[in-house]
Amino acid sequence: MQVCVLGAGVVGLTSAYYLARKGFEVTVIDRQPSVALETSFANAGQISPGYSAPWAAPGVPLKAIKWLMQKHAPLKISPDPEVKKLLWMGKMLSQCTEGAYNTNKSRMMALAEYSRDQFIALRKELGIRYDDGQGGTLQLFRKEEQVEAAAKDIKVLQALNVPHQMLTPEQIIEVEPGLVPVIDKFKGGLRLTGDETGDCYVFCQSLKAHCDALGVTFQFNTDIQSLSVESGKIRGVITQNGLQAFDHVLVSLGSYSKELLKACDIDIPVYPVKGYSLTVPVTDTQYAPVSTVMDETYKVAVTRLGDRIRAAGTAELTGYNLELPKSRTETISHVVEDLFGQGCQLAEAEYWTGLRPMTPDGTPVVGATNVAGLYLNTGHGTLGWTMSCGSAAVIADIMAGNQTEVDSSDLSVKRYQ
Ligand SMILES: Cc1cc2nc3c(=O)[nH]c(=O)nc-3n(C[C@H](O)[C@H](O)[C@H](O)COP(=O)(O)OP(=O)(O)OC[C@H]3O[C@@H](n4cnc5c(N)ncnc54)[C@H](O)[C@@H]3O)c2cc1C
Repeated sequence: MQVCVLGAGVVGLTSAYYLARKGFEVTVIDRQPSVALETSFANAGQISPGYSAPWAAPGVPLKAIKWLMQKHAPLKISPDPEVKKLLWMGKMLSQCTEGAYNTNKSRMMALAEYSRDQFIALRKELGIRYDDGQGGTLQLFRKEEQVEAAAKDIKVLQALNVPHQMLTPEQIIEVEPGLVPVIDKFKGGLRLTGDETGDCYVFCQSLKAHCDALGVTFQFNTDIQSLSVESGKIRGVITQNGLQAFDHVLVSLGSYSKELLKACDIDIPVYPVKGYSLTVPVTDTQYAPVSTVMDETYKVAVTRLGDRIRAAGTAELTGYNLELPKSRTETISHVVEDLFGQGCQLAEAEYWTGLRPMTPDGTPVVGATNVAGLYLNTGHGTLGWTMSCGSAAVIADIMAGNQTEVDSSDLSVKRYQ
């Protein structure tokens, strides 16, 4: 059975790997010269089932209004009246109820936990390493009200059996000793002990070699133009080289999946939510993070990746814009300077921007479509690295006609219809 995977980001690549393992003959097509060169290139490095939650939550609309007035705000919205953006924001606001939040969070967490377990299995089976760490996520609270608000999250964590610890400032510095010089700034922390970390790009480079060994074919520098569909069935993919026929096609084009699918009358509510990161070498390990430290005030994650620090954050709604103005990276550099300024030289930082393929309910779109032979694994938003292996294993099972190991009944595009 010949399968074409569209997109060689972490989601397409992991899908290709799990499909090849099941015996499919897999071709991956991507416009870039190698794997993971767009959104999967320099994300925050968190593999974080414990932190898996939709952005659409009760209280977020009010917080968003406050954020829009702050200098170092986690959210920016460009003032232009882009219709797609406004429609997507409307859909996201409709998900800000208690009920929708609980449904979306449980779905996301279940998939993310399953995904983390797939990472553990891959490390065991393949010996794959990617500057990975298993030190958990530490949410840092600068204000008492954040500590109080965490009580609500803890209830959900308890209900879903997610391992966690509430920490006092004294306990925080036992876990993250690099924070000793700034510990007075914090009132407490919530540690998600089951979370992991790692460099998504390094992982993808290594996994590609395993895909090669399984016989996966890669067509790089190839622009996908459209899908060929006949009588409700997929026929193949049209690139600058013409039509190539396949039995099955899996779309994993991140933020670019939406446009391609429109021509097949498939509407996925995915909007590109821009984020920024910086990567800087560690100069003094004593003052560097051990794992991921999430500064809840700025929504900036600072992660240790081997001998580097990666910090990422900001959600900007500004269409497919990949400009990298200094003013937009000031929040992440401010947090790194504030927390780990003695552990690195910020002047040596490399900056990057990427577009998170976000759905309004935070859950990715994984499953079959109304077009026979056409499947989707896309829309992973803020958690595509975390959920990659899990959603790849799920889609491979669906395409092979097997029962999935995690509930996939609500993951397909049908939930929006
Ligand atoms: C600042 C930032 C921080 C983040 N931090 C984290 C984190 O800590 N943890 C986490 O789990 N997630 C994180 N994410 C999210 C995560 O990085 C993404 O969800 C994930 O990388 C999406 O992967 P993807 O394969 O779907 O998309 P992509 O990596 O964008 O892959 C899509 C591929 O499709 C190709 N493509 C698109 N259109 C075409 C076309 N027409 N023809 C040919 N090829 C095409 C592209 O070249 C690309 O290779 C972060 C994202 C950002 C921006």
